[in-house]
This record gives sequence, C-alpha cells and structure tokens, in this order.
Amino acid sequence: MAPRQTADREGPYVLRDRTRASVFGAIVTKGPIARSEIAQLTGLSQATVTKAVAPMIAAGYVAEQEGSSGGRGRPRVPLHICPERRFAVGVKVTEREAVGVVVDFAGRVVAGGRVRLESPEVPEAVAGVRRLVRQLLAEKPEFRERTFDLGVAVGGAVDLDRKVLRASPILGWQDVPLGTLLEERTGLRTVVENDVNALAVAEQWFGVGVDVPWFAVVTLGAGVGSALVLDGKLMHGARGAAGELGHIVVEPGGRQCRCGNRGCLEAIASEPAILASIAEAGGPSGIDIEAAVGLARAGDAPAFTAFMRAGVALGAGIATLANLVNPARIVLSGEGLVASDLLMGSLRETFAARTLLPADAYELITRPLPDEAWARGAAAVALRDIFTGPLEESPNRPLRGAGSSLTP
Ligand SMILES: [Zn+2]
Repeated sequence: MAPRQTADREGPYVLRDRTRASVFGAIVTKGPIARSEIAQLTGLSQATVTKAVAPMIAAGYVAEQEGSSGGRGRPRVPLHICPERRFAVGVKVTEREAVGVVVDFAGRVVAGGRVRLESPEVPEAVAGVRRLVRQLLAEKPEFRERTFDLGVAVGGAVDLDRKVLRASPILGWQDVPLGTLLEERTGLRTVVENDVNALAVAEQWFGVGVDVPWFAVVTLGAGVGSALVLDGKLMHGARGAAGELGHIVVEPGGRQCRCGNRGCLEAIASEPAILASIAEAGGPSGIDIEAAVGLARAGDAPAFTAFMRAGVALGAGIATLANLVNPARIVLSGEGLVASDLLMGSLRETFAARTLLPADAYELITRPLPDEAWARGAAAVALRDIFTGPLEESPNRPLRGAGSSLTP
C-alpha cells in the first residue's frame, strides 16, 4: 500500500499534495505519457516525478505500458492510468432530483441514474442520494468492491474542509453538514463541491479546459453561476464563495433577488427571472421556460424582450468577469442554453461593448451539456480528492449504520 504523502496543511484544501495531484492529472489527461514528458508538462524535476509515481504504481493505480523498451522505472516508458482499479460516484443535487454517475479511475462514465426528490428538504435529499448510490453500485460487483468515494455537487457556497454547504439560495439551505450526513448514510468518503466548480473540474480534465490555464465556466438555468480556473487553479475564494457571478448587480435598484439584494444578474437572467419579466410586461404567467422560448421565437413581444434583457444582463456580467480575470476561454453551459438563439445576440453585443480588450481576445463558446455532465463533474471532484489525499482505500470512518447495507 502506498505511503501516506506529506500533506500541505498550511495551504488551501486543494493544495494538500500539489505534486501528486499534478502528476496524476498529467497521466489522466495525457496518458500514456512518459515520466520525462510529465516532468516537462508539470515543471517538476524528473526525480520528483519518478518518486511521485512509484507509490501509484505500487498501489496499482498507474501502470507502465506493456511492451515498452527501457526497463522498469526508465524515464521514457509511457505510463497510463488503470481505469478499473477504483471507481467513484458523483451526484448532482437539485431541488427536484439527484442525478448520479459512476466513473472509472480515468474519469469515464461507466453507469448512470437519477432519483426524484419529493421535497427540497435536507433529509429527503440525503435519503435520495443514498438510494441513488445504492442503485448505482448495485449494477456491478466491481463497483461495490472498489468504490470508496462520493463527490456531491450542489449550488451555493461550500466549505470544502468541513464538507458544509454554507449557503444555497437555490435550495434554501444554510450551514448544512452535507458531507458528514452523506458519509454516515453511504459509508463512502464524501467531498462536497459547488456545482459549477465541479463542472469546471470536469472541463479542466476531460473537456474544453484541457490545456487552457485561464478559463471560466458560466452556467445559465434556474440560477446563474460561474467557476474560475486561473493559472490552472480552480478558485474557491477564502470562504467558498468565489465566482458568484449571479449576484453581481447589473440593474441597480432592479428586481429583488433571492439573495436579498436587488438587480442581481440572476434576478434578470435566470429562468424564473425571465418568466417574471414576461408576466410583468403583460405576457402570460404560470408558463414554463419551454413555452416562453416558443413564444419568443414566434415573435411575442413581452417574451422576446425578456430574453433580450436577459442577454444584455448576461453580456454585462460576463464582461465584468472578463475584465477582472481575463480568461482566454469562457464556456457558457447549463440548461438555459435552450434559449441561446434568443440570448446570444444581445449577450455578445453587450459583452463586446463592455470588455476592455477587443471581444475577440476572449473565446466565448456555448457548450450544451447533459445533466449527467454535472454529476461527472462531482465524480471528478471525488477523483481530485483521491489524487490529493491519501491513497488508502478505507474511508476515514469504518462502514457502519445504513452505509453498510450499501455493500451487501
Ligand atoms: Zn442576488
């Protein structure tokens, strides 16, 4: 078994073992890759890479490419992740449902499922996640035998070290020890992360964030969120609330936001806000977003104007983000992209008018992703935790209580 690595206890959570994380990251995203190439890619010395890789190989997480010349431990022998060595579960929790996936150690989705939540209350969500985890792990014996980690993605500010959801306006939760509750109920070591951050981790490793050290993810839907990867590092902020793009003010004195302020981007450009704008302008009320999109496409003035207004607000908000941190690529995603044909014109126009650099200095792309992508992001966060934490497989606590029934 791999020796426990010395943790960087001074630094923020994600920097617990930066060396091993970057070596693991290089092998996951670029493998098969030789030690010398990992050294080049990460800026680490070849000796450091060789030292970091040894326990990974000993524990069976990484292997040398068969048939390669050079002998064991030689710098030019390509290394690859052993995907079947260990699995992780990722779950995205919303007010209506929990969506989950099992990923292998290379981050590939190997199973998926979802459960409806009867209410957005904490006990119902915890019970729902437990049901979902049990359902997913029941699919294959190797999932039950080799899954020890659960990543959970939720909207809101998260205290990673304490595994506490500090505040989630969208779920109406405050100071919920979600990680501890789920560890007790599932027996899996649990990490909780902001949902947009989780999506950004998945993009950074497996998606459009690979090889882009400066990028941002902006999500549209029930809320508006963002995640920032700056110089290759995901920004959490001092208290887990970095990237709260939805709560920057774009219409001072405007509509009340659920955070308590007025005129927040989310109070204008989220789906509920667009529906409210339509109703306020004399359009129908009580319709859903698909109906609103249909009306706007058919030329209905209140609906069309509401989407235009949302696009202007988003353009202004995203320009602020661009001016502050200068990402090379800005990825727009989320279920709100169903209306991208209505939003993007005014969004791009406002963005171009408000950025200091010419708009083409930023690559602004839309990227519709399935619900499952968020759950995969949550699983990627669990993998990140394995890469940075101890390689031991047994969770921090012994399996007990309800959790033991997960591994019949
Ligand atoms: Zn707000």
